[in-house]
Amino acid sequence: MQSFNFTSLPSRVIFGDGSLAQVHKEIEWLGAKRALILCTPEQKALAEKVSELLGPCSVGIFDHAVMHVPIETAEQARQMASQLGADCAVAVGGGSTTGLGKAIALVSNLPILAIPTTYAGSEMTPIYGITESGVKKTGRDPRVLPKSVIYDPLLTVGLPVGLSITSGINAIAHAAEGLYAHDGNPIMNLLAEEGIAALGRALPQIKKDAQNIEARSDALYGAWLCGSVLGHVGMSLHHKLCHTLGGTFNLPHAETHTIVLPHALAYNASHATRAMKSIANALGAQDAPQAVFNLALSNGAPVALKDLGMVENDLDRVCQLAMQNQYPNPRPLEQVALRQLLQNAFEGKPPQS
Ligand code: NAD
Repeated sequence: MQSFNFTSLPSRVIFGDGSLAQVHKEIEWLGAKRALILCTPEQKALAEKVSELLGPCSVGIFDHAVMHVPIETAEQARQMASQLGADCAVAVGGGSTTGLGKAIALVSNLPILAIPTTYAGSEMTPIYGITESGVKKTGRDPRVLPKSVIYDPLLTVGLPVGLSITSGINAIAHAAEGLYAHDGNPIMNLLAEEGIAALGRALPQIKKDAQNIEARSDALYGAWLCGSVLGHVGMSLHHKLCHTLGGTFNLPHAETHTIVLPHALAYNASHATRAMKSIANALGAQDAPQAVFNLALSNGAPVALKDLGMVENDLDRVCQLAMQNQYPNPRPLEQVALRQLLQNAFEGKPPQS
């Protein structure tokens, strides 16, 4: 076995149908009495329900969370938290809402209780991102890791099927890259394989019936595991490409991950054979990049960057940006091969190892 270092992140997870009902108990567990609830405008009704469950422990709702955490939004939320004397933030929603909670915690040390409603996995990571003047800056800081997470599969039933599939593949991407991370370890490999398998089983079931609670539960369980992997080990080429496409070209997060992942895996396949075997096994297939591509295609997810509004002329620029400030990657970055990867992803071709 290869040598490794492993530091476990502190995390408390409450998982189960109806576990939202425990939100008040969790606030008490945090030692908090004045919760500011965060949500997107679309999820205000859910935030109001959380507020009701908290009763006098709820001091307000900030309902302006948006994708990529613009600094202006972060500052408004920080100000509201401070004016209301909040002693914790409850982030109820997807990665954008959790990200806003992290932006508050980064400057105030306020504990976060996360209640995720997508499969993005941000709630299990100490990674934050804030966008300023069109540039998204990311970093790792232990202060932003939510202190407690309530996973209630019932809250994910309303997640549209399209976003469920792409968000699930976003989670798979965290685990897949964890399997070939430069700082990977056997514990994370177990979590990654189990997380990919759970999502691989659940997504086709959700596609058939969005109300299938068993499948929703499996998917959220998989998202937890895959998010944990992202929290513990480094990212590689796939995440670098998606950060560039999302941050600089404003492509939608989960869809971009879904399209790029098979191609990033194909690029790395010859330099990460054990990881590819694990991914393929978890998906019950022979070839990892093809299995991820099929999972997207057969469940109606987009497979071509051109369908997200990407302009072909920008591919050279993406390639240049991806070559800069590289993340550690099993296969060295070669400009010509990387440009071809982007072309394939742009056109929606099957991955070419
Ligand atoms: P999102 O949070 O932007 O949500 C997308 C839309 O779906 C929003 O309108 C939201 O209100 C709605 N929605 C969410 N859950 C719903 C539900 N159950 N029912 C109905 N509607 C629902 O999308 P996302 O993909 O979860 O998050 C993307 C963001 O998260 C990006 O900014 C990304 O960078 C960040 N992210 C960060 C990390 C990290 O570790 N820091 C990890 C993954 C993603």
